[in-house]
Amino acid sequence: MDHQNQSTQSGIVIIGSGLAGYTVIRELRKLDKTVPITLISRESGYFYSKPMLSTALASNKTTEQLVSTNAEGMAAQLEVTILGDADVSAIDTASQTIETSKGSIAYGKLVLGLGADQIRLPLQGNAANEVITVNDLEEYAQFRQAIAGKKRIVILGAGLIGCEFANDLVLGSYEVDVIDLAPQSLGRLLPEAAALALQSKLSEAGVRWHFATTVQSVDRNGDCLSITLANGSVINSDVFLSAVGLRPRLDLAKAAGIATGNGITINRQLETSAKNVYAIGDCAEVDGLVLPYVMPIMQAARALAPNLLGQEITLSYPAMPVMVKTPALPTIVSPPAKGAVGEWKIHTLEDGLEARFESSDGKLLGFALLGSATAQRGALTKELPPILQ
Ligand SMILES: Cc1cc2nc3c(=O)[nH]c(=O)nc-3n(C[C@H](O)[C@H](O)[C@H](O)COP(=O)(O)OP(=O)(O)OC[C@H]3O[C@@H](n4cnc5c(N)ncnc54)[C@H](O)[C@@H]3O)c2cc1C
Repeated sequence: MDHQNQSTQSGIVIIGSGLAGYTVIRELRKLDKTVPITLISRESGYFYSKPMLSTALASNKTTEQLVSTNAEGMAAQLEVTILGDADVSAIDTASQTIETSKGSIAYGKLVLGLGADQIRLPLQGNAANEVITVNDLEEYAQFRQAIAGKKRIVILGAGLIGCEFANDLVLGSYEVDVIDLAPQSLGRLLPEAAALALQSKLSEAGVRWHFATTVQSVDRNGDCLSITLANGSVINSDVFLSAVGLRPRLDLAKAAGIATGNGITINRQLETSAKNVYAIGDCAEVDGLVLPYVMPIMQAARALAPNLLGQEITLSYPAMPVMVKTPALPTIVSPPAKGAVGEWKIHTLEDGLEARFESSDGKLLGFALLGSATAQRGALTKELPPILQ
């Protein structure tokens, strides 16, 4: 059998059992019940909702409780072959095969749903290797174990994930210190007034903030971690969680000669630079955008599935607000596009805040809604321009 025949017959192969991989499969199955699909993943192939990782500690959820369906259930439900606990080490785009820890596999069409890694800042100190990140179920289990019976937690990063963990952990009666190089929380998503409102509610809930500084070193002294900040102060803690951002997983694509930028570069049909190789989710970049959120994955999967089946569908993104899961002050953000010209207009409400980013002619280009203002989400989203037309 020549390679072409072999690959034509080998159907669709998807790497990654995260939301991206599984949403593509669900969309494919709506269109075609029989096309052969193989899913390969480092994880076993279970399905869980990753956004719950930052809201499940207060309610003491175990990893088992976070898994909605195990690999066998997913395989039966979606009629896919799942190769779990398998690491993909190489892609050969010429022969259309991938190398995995469980052997090589040929593909007709390949989808990269590889996700992103938490960024780890290089830190000094004898306990720098004790820094924890939470980006998948295994790490969630390790974090739960690390904080069991402990009281004090330091979080590096006051972005979306850092703030969500901070809120969840104070709800779970932990003492929480949050450190960020920026002068405010959610620096890339919120104007200052909105950030101050969120910080104030989280402070009332017990969060302590350390802005405009970073961590210099992490040292263990007996049971205690001493975290020395660049501004000279020292925080004593039991556990150190790092949540400073995500970096798309590019190594496999780069080694295969597939074009990458900040993410794996795809066009509006979700094709990479290699024939019959597509990318989706946190690992992908389209038109300069890496959007590591749920809604863009849903949109992208709806476009990718028909493309994999031979139709030509162009990806578009409507405005897609993101919810920050901070019950101390529920927050919804739809930041203006990079380089958008305009200014923030702030309306403070009794128990909330509405921030509108408007152009000089009054067009709404972005918003942040806090507390009672979140009720405006639907109406304001309709006014926003699409992210990708
Ligand atoms: C704590 C937290 C809270 C979040 N909250 C929200 C929220 O409230 N709202 C929102 O919109 N978004 C949220 N997000 C983001 C959202 O969860 C992600 O955008 C989404 O889950 C990413 O899905 P993915 O499939 O692209 O990546 P992942 O879920 O990371 O999946 C990647 C898959 O690829 C596999 N893989 C990678 N490399 C290999 C390899 N070489 N071989 C085999 N398998 C491989 C991995 O094992 C994994 O199965 C949150 C993220 C986190 C971490």
